[in-house]
Amino acid sequence: MRWIGLGFGIACAALTGTTAVAQDQTPEEQSRATEVWTPVPAKVDTSKAVPSDAIVLFDGKSLAQWQTVKDGSPAGWTLGKGAMTVKPGMGDIETRQDFCDVQLHIEWRTPTKITGADGKELQSQQRNNSGVFLQGLYEVQVLDSYPPASTYVNGQAGAVYKQSIPLVNASRAPGVWQSYDIIYHAPQFDALGAVTRKARITVLHNSVLVQDNFEIQGPTAWIGHPPYQAHGCLPLSLQDHGNLVSYRNIWIRKLDTVSP
Ligand code: MG
Repeated sequence: MRWIGLGFGIACAALTGTTAVAQDQTPEEQSRATEVWTPVPAKVDTSKAVPSDAIVLFDGKSLAQWQTVKDGSPAGWTLGKGAMTVKPGMGDIETRQDFCDVQLHIEWRTPTKITGADGKELQSQQRNNSGVFLQGLYEVQVLDSYPPASTYVNGQAGAVYKQSIPLVNASRAPGVWQSYDIIYHAPQFDALGAVTRKARITVLHNSVLVQDNFEIQGPTAWIGHPPYQAHGCLPLSLQDHGNLVSYRNIWIRKLDTVSP
């Protein structure tokens, strides 16, 4: 089906206006005019669960890469069975390393216990809440959103909290491991601190697209919509919302050298 390739080449030339197709050339020669051989993409070994160029932030054995947000002390969440679990009251934890543009893989699980101390079923935002905060500022909500659980839709699992409703509800049942795969581009600021490019985020929840290149409007807040404030690369953080939410298999790839 050579004519398809040739047609595509002509179409490309027409689109770019940069490469004339010489009619006295063979199709192979015409094709070569639009071939690009450099730069050669770096080889990433994908034969294992974690890509070879990823930074493993949590392998189930150690919290060494994490610290407490409020005072920088070692992360005090509970470690066991290949997971870490929020220890209510210990506070949010963050990576010791700063990040800008990233690809993040993180797995999480809400508890099967969906009743509170009073024996009543947990409702809305109290139903086993946590959160993944890109750069410690922009939250992808972690919550039990498995029906019949419900809350305001821009606050359910897969939401960019209070900003963007997930495209679908891809939630699994309480007690079942779930995943987020996130592509995140950090905001950019000018020398005076004004935002010149807002952050953008794509989220797959259990491999299903729930946020499609959403432009984040500013830092996450429970009340209101605060404006951006200039910042550089910052840690990834996880929220202690007082519930026994667990995390495992966390790895991240820096995308700072990849074009937006
Ligand atoms: Mg949350």
